[in-house]
Amino acid sequence: MNEPTAAQLDAYLTRPAKQQPLWPNADELADATAVLRARPPLVFAGEADVLTAKLAAAQRGEAFVLQGGDCAEIFVEASADRIRNKIRTVLQMAVVLTYGASLPVVKLGRMAGQYAKPRSTATETRGDVTLPAYRGDAVNGFEFSPDARRPDPWRMVEAYNHSSATLNLIRAFTMGGFADLRLVQEWNRGFTANPAYARYEELAAQIDKAVRFMAACGADFEALKMVEFFSSHEALLLDYERALTRIDSRGGQPYDCSAHFLWIGERTRSPEGAHAELLSHVRNPLGIKIGPSAHASDILRLADKLDPAHEPGRISLISRMGADQVRVILPGLVRAVQAVQRPVLWMCDPMHGNTFTTSAGVKTRRFDTVIEEVRGFFEVLREAGAVPGGLHVELTGDDVTEVMGGSEAIDDAALSRRYESVVDPRLNHQQALEMAFQVAELLRSPR
Ligand code: PEP
Ligand code: MN
Repeated sequence: MNEPTAAQLDAYLTRPAKQQPLWPNADELADATAVLRARPPLVFAGEADVLTAKLAAAQRGEAFVLQGGDCAEIFVEASADRIRNKIRTVLQMAVVLTYGASLPVVKLGRMAGQYAKPRSTATETRGDVTLPAYRGDAVNGFEFSPDARRPDPWRMVEAYNHSSATLNLIRAFTMGGFADLRLVQEWNRGFTANPAYARYEELAAQIDKAVRFMAACGADFEALKMVEFFSSHEALLLDYERALTRIDSRGGQPYDCSAHFLWIGERTRSPEGAHAELLSHVRNPLGIKIGPSAHASDILRLADKLDPAHEPGRISLISRMGADQVRVILPGLVRAVQAVQRPVLWMCDPMHGNTFTTSAGVKTRRFDTVIEEVRGFFEVLREAGAVPGGLHVELTGDDVTEVMGGSEAIDDAALSRRYESVVDPRLNHQQALEMAFQVAELLRSPR
């Protein structure tokens, strides 16, 4: 493959770019992106290649992908406790899935860079005041004031700094002993008793027994002491992603070194758009969110643009149809992809098609509806003879009350108890565990 020229990497500038902030000052933007361009990459290109190979295995049904984290990370929550709780939740879910389904689980955080959000409207009006919409901490502040809502390009540098610290802690936790499977029972300390936790304890005890048995037999446990944990976010903010796109010293190819895996959102996936153009030149594995309005021809054109060589592991299609639409719309898309023999990883995002607003004006989702979409997804893929390869969820490691239902039966009234998300509602720690048990059962049932 030839090395791309700077002109090719910058071709996105000539394409229509949706969902970008109107930076008020061009000089300020140039200064901030110059700083970003001089910063070290957050990930190494070789790690992105490792992930591509793992995603290729998941495409073949030899692994399952778990991608989870906040809808929107925020700067004030990039703290040790919050990060640890989130990692622990993903690791616990992964243990449940691995043990339950006897499949390796590829772990991907919506973490260390999920700081920019697409919005349905460019402005927000409260009373007689209209201000720019909140677009994520990498762009502006959530507070409803002219000062906070003014897009500030230096926030991209701040997002980079928080992402760097987050990634450092992720690497420390996953490589430094915290993720040691022999401590699987420890991970649950501090949580109150409820059905999901009791089930987890039981499973952790079984794993503990198996691990001790193997140790007594003299097995080598290096593989159990560390886990690989990859970072991902929506590649939305073009100025940020371009500034972190670097040429790999090994082979001269560009990688977007802001994360291992990047996805294109439902609102920015036009094959002719700026996002597709920029990402077509980087070698990272890529995701494409697809909602109920997706046409097979658009998805195939976008996939051709991003992956003309049909490279295994390169493209993940993340279906987010809604529980009532998944069985109606997904089968046709799966058939269309099969018809051109394109290798893709099919993932299910059961969150974004199931959001609604309560009569009290709270944005939420129902746990049962979320699970129902996962069931529909598995049914559709298996019916088509394809592989249901992964799960993409919005979750937090904390005991928030943002999604209704689950075994704690969070209802309308309980939503207000601890609703912290600034954008979409997330599964709390216990709902996330509960989901893992249910998905493990789906994975285990006849393939
Ligand atoms: C998201 O993942 O937070 C998101 C905005 O998703 P989508 O692009 O699928 O709407
Ligand atoms: Mn979201």
